[in-house]
Amino acid sequence: MAQTINIAVVSVPVFSHQASMIEFCKRLISLHQHIHVTCIFPTIGTPTPAITTLLESLPSTINHTFLTPVKNEDLPQDVPPFVQVQHAVSQSMPSFRNALRLLCSTSPLTALVVDAFADEAFELTREFNLLSYIYLPSSAMVLSMLLHFPSLNDKVLCDFKDHTEALKIPGCIPIQGNDLPSDLQERSNLAYEIVLECCKRFSLADGFLVNSFSEMEQDTVRALKEHYTGSNKASIYLVGPIIQTGSSSESNMSECVRWLEKQRPNSVLYVSFGSGGTLPQKQINELALGLELSGQKFLWVLRPPNDSTEGAYLVAAKDDPLQFLPAGFLERTKEQGLVVPFWAPQTQILSHTSTGGFLTHCGWNSTLESIMLGVPMVTWPLFAEQRMNAVLLTEGLHVALRPKFNENGIVEKEEISQVIKGLLLDEKGNEIRQRIEILKDAGVDALKEDGSSTRALSQFAIRMENFQGNP
Ligand code: UDP
Repeated sequence: MAQTINIAVVSVPVFSHQASMIEFCKRLISLHQHIHVTCIFPTIGTPTPAITTLLESLPSTINHTFLTPVKNEDLPQDVPPFVQVQHAVSQSMPSFRNALRLLCSTSPLTALVVDAFADEAFELTREFNLLSYIYLPSSAMVLSMLLHFPSLNDKVLCDFKDHTEALKIPGCIPIQGNDLPSDLQERSNLAYEIVLECCKRFSLADGFLVNSFSEMEQDTVRALKEHYTGSNKASIYLVGPIIQTGSSSESNMSECVRWLEKQRPNSVLYVSFGSGGTLPQKQINELALGLELSGQKFLWVLRPPNDSTEGAYLVAAKDDPLQFLPAGFLERTKEQGLVVPFWAPQTQILSHTSTGGFLTHCGWNSTLESIMLGVPMVTWPLFAEQRMNAVLLTEGLHVALRPKFNENGIVEKEEISQVIKGLLLDEKGNEIRQRIEILKDAGVDALKEDGSSTRALSQFAIRMENFQGNP
């Protein structure tokens, strides 16, 4: 019997990152029972119900611990959420060191797997003599961009949002400067330098675990392995597609599913902007009117308006969102759609036969869930790396349609209606459905016993088994 290997994983206080990390751990130990995992979570305030529900689903073989919570009022205000998350990670470092010390005192640890944005925790891998891995809950294209970012930063002298030539990252679809992650578009953004430092620290990693699969990003993966692993000896493991296996909140399930049960197959557009995406009031109005104008069935998860697109990312909104809909909208569309406040059981909705399309903010978890549940998409990126995901989905994989924003950054109702009808009624929607089915099959194959992701996880496990301690 293989010797027990103990590893610790550390996430960041962001639901979608924690959820992805947890699913990764579940898959790892289901394939390699001799690996014991402890999940360590820095937190801001008290953990959200969504994350506590997820933790309740953990098998008893995965331990978890919350670090001493950082108080929201101790974080800098009026800064991008990414900067707040970084502060929370920094403030959690003493408590993290204690947690590691405690773990090591009971059983020797082999490796630390850190979320890409908790990379400050890397400092401790040397101190504790551990292998260090980065878990990236995102695409190989994003990893490529992050690894090249220090050199892009040197080459491009203006702000990326003003850079008119497409950026060519080896193996990736050329990308416009204004499709880079939102925090990287302007050098004056407080997050810019932090991300740059973070990317430089990536060179300290022994390897990267990426939630994607080789078959979906072949050229990118090939280029990454050629350009990166060659010189730095870091391994890149494509371990996805890892998606939520159960609902993270059951509260709205019966209502959503009951409503979907009454609809025709592939007839409903599901509309959601992830765990914290928000729209300004004007855009909520246009979206409501666009949905109505399309005449198509819809299931819309709605939050109160916010002028920031990441308005509810770290702090949940409380006002009743329904009061912000245009006058008479709910009455007029009562036979056409269902509006669900705040949260819905996304994977159940996407896996329902009535769901025929997903208007998504292109968070990576939502993207993979849509692919693996075979649902064509309309891309509506808001923040973080979501514009890059939208480019991959539309120009790279051709499994989504991308509506146009006007010069004021608003998608108008006519455009919304047209894109929805294109996806649900036109031939191009059918073609997308066929392509996404092929991609889904490739994803399913990657997870099979001899599939690429399963093999990648085995290589990761072997690397840990052979680890004799850093010299
Ligand atoms: N999610 C959900 N219900 C909701 C909104 C989101 O279950 O109403 C889940 C969704 O299934 C996904 C995650 O939350 O697993 C959102 O992650 P993603 O990476 O798509 O976006 P983010 O929250 O990071 O913006």
